[in-house]
Amino acid sequence: MDFMISDRIQTIVEMINEFMEKEIIPLEPEFLVKDFKDLLPILREKQAMVKKMELWAPNFPVECGGMGLSLLEHGLVSEALGRSPLGHYVFWCQAPDAGNVEILHLYGTREQKQRYLNPLVKGDIRSCFAMTEVDMPGSNPVMLETTAVKEGDDYVINGHKWYTTAADGADFAIVMAVTNPDASTYLQASMIIVPTATKGFNRVRNIPVMGHEGSDYSSHAEILFESCRVPQKNLLGPEGQGFVIAQDRLGPGRIHHCMRWLGICQRAFDLMCIRANERVISPSGKTLGTRQTIQNWIAESAAELQAARLLTLNSAWQIDKNGASQARDSISMIKFVVANTMNKIVDRALQVHGGLGMTDDTILAYFFRHERAARIYDGADEVHKTSLAKRILKAY
Ligand SMILES: Cc1cc2nc3c(=O)[nH]c(=O)nc-3n(C[C@H](O)[C@H](O)[C@H](O)COP(=O)(O)OP(=O)(O)OC[C@H]3O[C@@H](n4cnc5c(N)ncnc54)[C@H](O)[C@@H]3O)c2cc1C
Repeated sequence: MDFMISDRIQTIVEMINEFMEKEIIPLEPEFLVKDFKDLLPILREKQAMVKKMELWAPNFPVECGGMGLSLLEHGLVSEALGRSPLGHYVFWCQAPDAGNVEILHLYGTREQKQRYLNPLVKGDIRSCFAMTEVDMPGSNPVMLETTAVKEGDDYVINGHKWYTTAADGADFAIVMAVTNPDASTYLQASMIIVPTATKGFNRVRNIPVMGHEGSDYSSHAEILFESCRVPQKNLLGPEGQGFVIAQDRLGPGRIHHCMRWLGICQRAFDLMCIRANERVISPSGKTLGTRQTIQNWIAESAAELQAARLLTLNSAWQIDKNGASQARDSISMIKFVVANTMNKIVDRALQVHGGLGMTDDTILAYFFRHERAARIYDGADEVHKTSLAKRILKAY
């Protein structure tokens, strides 16, 4: 294990921390009360500043216009960005675009790269990823009902997806559909690029999630594919290899989420400590921080956050060195450990803020509402625990 942080990355992280404090965190009060789409003009201004600082697209390949950071380096950057829900979007390394860039880079044809990958990395367009279906269990994604049937030079897609994050305002979707129903289970599905303006790509609604339907990047859509016709050249990678490509997308994607969650943990922890020191709870001037229960929460949170951070950086280091498939156990561990650590620390921070914690006067209630999903998407806790335990037991 070698977690030495280079001077370059140290400087980058310091620059990002300063930018987050000065330019991004002050936007949060507006973010909490406005539609995301109304914030786009100011966010574009901030993005232009990031480009000028040459910190654009930190984890995207250099040849596409990104900084090409290793996963370990990106982990440190991502924690700094994750302190605000706007950080990753402004620096352009947000899900689901980050995962889509990875697979377009690995599997895209020259034409697909020109049409979709290059403008995506530049930030000229956005994308989404449509795998989960309304009537099928996302936890067992081989059970797909969406089909893509060949007709002439086209695929005709029919199916009912939901939780297609950020479909509102996206230029294209990468869609998982069954193309080879007679093949063995894991070889039935393919990934197909579908421009969202295609006839038959019907965004039914943005789903209300924890009380908000959101808009643009900050939303999750339900999509009905009704005889949606795209050319066969929109197939991404070989036909029938959808699940293989999904593994390439979801492995690093999971660690990206964990790195962002560490930033949320740190922000919630900072807010909790500041409040514990400031909130006077007795006439003699004693603060919340003098109470043992609060001290326990602070000490436990500090230890749990550091454990989650080291586990995540270790996974990143393993993936950089040996590839995602060799780091499977580690990726499963961090997915449920960091998601639960984050939920615990955000909950404690909210509790320390009392009634204030329930308002939108701090970012905590937003984290509490929206980050609960961390234990569900990209593999629910229980699924990761089961598959990890099965692999462990095999060795005995
Ligand atoms: C905020 C958010 C964003 C999302 N973004 C996207 C996206 O951009 N694109 C996309 O395609 N999908 C997306 N998803 C969907 C997500 O991947 C699925 O919700 C997830 O895979 C779970 O599938 P499901 O909802 O169908 O739950 P189900 O498969 O019905 O599972 C329900 C619950 O059952 C339990 N469970 C399931 N299987 C097992 C098991 N084997 N053992 C024990 N318990 C089990 C788990 O507790 C699980 O939470 C998103 C979801 C959320 C909440």
